[in-house]
Amino acid sequence: MTDIFNDAALSEYTTALKELGAQKTVQGALKKSFTRYENLIAKSTEESTIKPACKAGCAYCCHYKVEVMAHEIFLIKDHLQQNWTATQIKSLLKDAEENAKIIKTLTQEQHLVTNIKCPFLIENQCSIYSVRPFKCRNFHATDANACEKSFNDPENLDIESNFVESIAMFGNAHSQGFEAAVKNTGLDARAYDFTTALLEVFAEPNALKRFSRGKKTFIKAIEIEE
Ligand code: SF4
Repeated sequence: MTDIFNDAALSEYTTALKELGAQKTVQGALKKSFTRYENLIAKSTEESTIKPACKAGCAYCCHYKVEVMAHEIFLIKDHLQQNWTATQIKSLLKDAEENAKIIKTLTQEQHLVTNIKCPFLIENQCSIYSVRPFKCRNFHATDANACEKSFNDPENLDIESNFVESIAMFGNAHSQGFEAAVKNTGLDARAYDFTTALLEVFAEPNALKRFSRGKKTFIKAIEIEE
């Protein structure tokens, strides 16, 4: 990382560390971090001569493998319980269950080249946009045609990825800063597969307790090896 990205990571780490101490829950600190992230991305987009092509209704990337941290899953769970009906949650978990059956048969490498529609993608829009994970936020593609090509031919790794590098690097620096603060606060900072972690957070009442003690939050969910 060059100095500007290091500075962005350090700035987020320092702020998040203070907030994790001051906030009653990690979800509250994460919400504030998301706001800072969006401000950082808006500023770096303004400064970049290359602009992202991403727009509402374009959702090729919502069929790709997503990794999450446990704190992101707790925020999503809170959001769903506050804003979705029990019937909607039941239907979401049913779709997630179907996806999980496929995901569990795949290696991480196979999952990377397999299109699986995210259960939160409804009418080509993210239905949890305000609380979507960092990994979803940090897609800033410059060529929607290349995204379509890759979607239509997921096993073809020769299709060039087309990201605005500076924006993606600021985004990564920010999320890494927050994650380092989570880890240094003594909380679980492992990465998990999105779908299987989502299923477990609704099935396992002790997940938050394990997270708070720095233990492996999700036992059955797929843990992502570094
Ligand atoms: S959570 Fe939202 S942005 Fe992320 S993959 Fe699912 S639908 Fe797309």
